[in-house]
Amino acid sequence: MKHLHSGKVRDLYELPGGELLMVARDTISAYDFVLDSPIPDKGRILTQLSLWWFERLADVLPNHVISTDLPDGAPAEWRGRVMVVRRLEMVPVECVARGYLTGSGLKEYQRTGSVCGVPLPGGLVDGSKLPEPVFTPTTKAAVGDHDEPMTFAEVAAEVGADVARRLREITVEVYRRGAELAAERGIIVADTKIELGWSPEGELVLADEVLTPDSSRFWPADQWRPGRSQPSFDKQFVRDWLVSPESGWDRSSGQAPPPLPPQIIERTRAKYVEAYERITGRTFQ
Ligand code: ATP
Ligand code: MG
Repeated sequence: MKHLHSGKVRDLYELPGGELLMVARDTISAYDFVLDSPIPDKGRILTQLSLWWFERLADVLPNHVISTDLPDGAPAEWRGRVMVVRRLEMVPVECVARGYLTGSGLKEYQRTGSVCGVPLPGGLVDGSKLPEPVFTPTTKAAVGDHDEPMTFAEVAAEVGADVARRLREITVEVYRRGAELAAERGIIVADTKIELGWSPEGELVLADEVLTPDSSRFWPADQWRPGRSQPSFDKQFVRDWLVSPESGWDRSSGQAPPPLPPQIIERTRAKYVEAYERITGRTFQ
């Protein structure tokens, strides 16, 4: 196996047959830091959740998954958090759909009244539900750089108008499906990011991961109050503890956060398990 890339939470290898192996680690990031304390089982939970969604979305578009078997030579402890996938030529756009306004979308709205060139109604606040889900694509920045918002015209200039329309259609449909199903289970999907690639046959294929708490904002529906930042379903205990006096961490210092106490790790793990179990209706093994 040839190591190709390590992102914040995943490692990517090339297999001898040319396929890719994606391995999810148990690491968690918060406030732009990858924390020293892993969340046990997070890699398996997010991998299993992605796989569940890939299956559910198969009528929207094909996905890159070939197998979840451990390839020869891979450590046994990777079991459950690997995917062998088709190597695709990635579309150079991060495809984001938003159903609620927050984060960088909110900042752009406050400055311009629109997001990625899509005008929005006045008076929206942090956490407001949008009248319709909107396609808010960004550039795919190199490591360390920030993804920049793109207008639809900019996407069209990059990939052609027909493909741009397909990207928009697919992204909004994936968001709608995810949001609708999660809503039945008390979880708001505020926004989600998908990555698409071209197969050698020229077909658009869903790649990377899909509708996980790492690629989407999940909010507990019963705590949704527009006008403030919403509790995040999975990382709230971590964030709250990090900025509490107890952690002794000064966010403005630029220094890495301290290790998490065991009870914060355990409560966070329980939240990931809960998200998985609520959404899929399965018991996490
Ligand atoms: P981070 O997510 O930590 O900000 P990242 O996106 O660079 O960083 P990963 O998500 O770990 O890191 O890396 C996955 C990489 O593999 C991404 O660059 C993604 O575009 C790419 N990728 C995902 N699926 C495929 C595929 N089927 N074929 C080719 N490349 C893929
Ligand atoms: Mg990524």
